[in-house]
Amino acid sequence: MFSGSLKKVLYMPELPEVEVMRRRIESHVLNTRLQTIEAVDGRLVSKLPTNWPKLLEGNAFSSSQRVGKYLFLNFDKTWLHLHFGMTGSVSFVSKDETPPPYTRLKLAFDNGLMMCFTDPRTFGKMDIVNRVEAFVANKRLGVDLLEASDEDAIRMFANRKISLKAILLRQKDVAGIGNWLADEALYRLKLNPTIRGIDLTPEVAIALLNETKSIAEEAIQADTHYGEFPNHFFVNHRVEDGDCPCTKDTIKKITLAGRSTYYCPTCQPQTK
Ligand SMILES: [Zn+2]
Repeated sequence: MFSGSLKKVLYMPELPEVEVMRRRIESHVLNTRLQTIEAVDGRLVSKLPTNWPKLLEGNAFSSSQRVGKYLFLNFDKTWLHLHFGMTGSVSFVSKDETPPPYTRLKLAFDNGLMMCFTDPRTFGKMDIVNRVEAFVANKRLGVDLLEASDEDAIRMFANRKISLKAILLRQKDVAGIGNWLADEALYRLKLNPTIRGIDLTPEVAIALLNETKSIAEEAIQADTHYGEFPNHFFVNHRVEDGDCPCTKDTIKKITLAGRSTYYCPTCQPQTK
């Protein structure tokens, strides 16, 4: 169980959190006309042409798309791209209510709702794009995790001499796997994060990617938001000197691919 005495860790929004926000936005304003959009924080739009609101205003929000942790909202041929940075989030109030604290962007819709993009740490971004495919190609993003196939799994790990953790975090093969998701999947499959991709059999490669996918789906179902994970998730124990839920052994922290990586030395031995 999660112990309240553990250090509080800040979790950046990853695929599950962004998918939860995508569904929340669709459930509130899909097929609703955007009346006005206003950047409360001018830094958000400093690189856009001055008439940028006119590219969106008056159009209905007709669909959304998420690739990895990138979110796109379609307003009749023009897409609003939202990037959540470290603390970005979306909430809805009625148009006559005061927007929540740290609101950076306000979108007023025909149905009386106002969508507020909040971001206390201000690392979030917005942009306007004409084609999502061009953005994805430019970023060299691979297939979204929830769409990835067994063939993608085999290709992802085959012949790679870098660590499993580093491979999972690469966005070029499969997009959307972030730090906690990678650690959670490796823990559940009892794989040490330093094992190299080349040392996995195709069966284990498929199992690892499928596990990652099902954890993401489970987190989406649980409406995961900023560190509020289901109790049985390893991520709740994923702090330095935390206890492993299975063995009570001490969780180890190492750095792989430049990222903090947590694992249990007993459950996830160096060699299989
Ligand atoms: Zn353990």
